[in-house]
Amino acid sequence: MIQVQCRCHGRLNELLPPSQRWRVRTMHLKQEITLQQLLIPLHIPHPEVDLVMVNGAPARLDYCVRHGDQIHIYPDIGDIDDAAIVPLRVRPLPRARFILDVHLGRLARRLRLLGLDCWYRSQMDDRAIVRLARIQERVILTRDRGLLQRVEVSHGYYVRAIRPEAQLREVLARFEPGPWLRPLSRCMRCNGLIETMSGEEVQRLSRPDLEREFSVIYRCVGCHQLYWQGSHYEQLRKYVDQLLS
Ligand SMILES: [Zn+2]
Repeated sequence: MIQVQCRCHGRLNELLPPSQRWRVRTMHLKQEITLQQLLIPLHIPHPEVDLVMVNGAPARLDYCVRHGDQIHIYPDIGDIDDAAIVPLRVRPLPRARFILDVHLGRLARRLRLLGLDCWYRSQMDDRAIVRLARIQERVILTRDRGLLQRVEVSHGYYVRAIRPEAQLREVLARFEPGPWLRPLSRCMRCNGLIETMSGEEVQRLSRPDLEREFSVIYRCVGCHQLYWQGSHYEQLRKYVDQLLS
């Protein structure tokens, strides 16, 4: 029997049952396993972990745990004051781009409303999500820990909150996507960018009602949905201000 002591730090405690938070846990293992496998009974998806220290030294997730190991698991390198220590994920993704699993449609719409690039389909299996996340360098957002525990996943986040507004605030706090926020620049339906239509294009629409009422008409480059700054726009504007307050 292998016995190890294990402690989770910072926001990783939110993923543990209340009785196991903020304390050292002794684990009894029947056989040698890797650190990545050790995270599974803890219900901590490995993309949530940025650093593991074993007996005071950083370890990779393929390290095989040994009897007597003292293991500390950290959500990010910020908790450690030592320039010599590098995190598990050395290269952060270049920008805030997400892919959301099928249960997070309402969160996807809100993130798009703020202008963030969010791939979302109401029907998509886990394998396709993981594949696309890798190809397009997107962070997976999900409430399915099993999805994040797949070996091929590198960047992902388990969304804790249930309500979409709370989920949005959580994602904004976690990823700080400030430089990429462009409210009302992206289509909430399809994630396409919204562009201003030229006078000729507007004429071709044959919508005199719109032409009379609004000097500028916008269109989604993806699904061709039309947008204009009517009363609905004002409501959305207020909603965005509320979300970002
Ligand atoms: Zn669209």
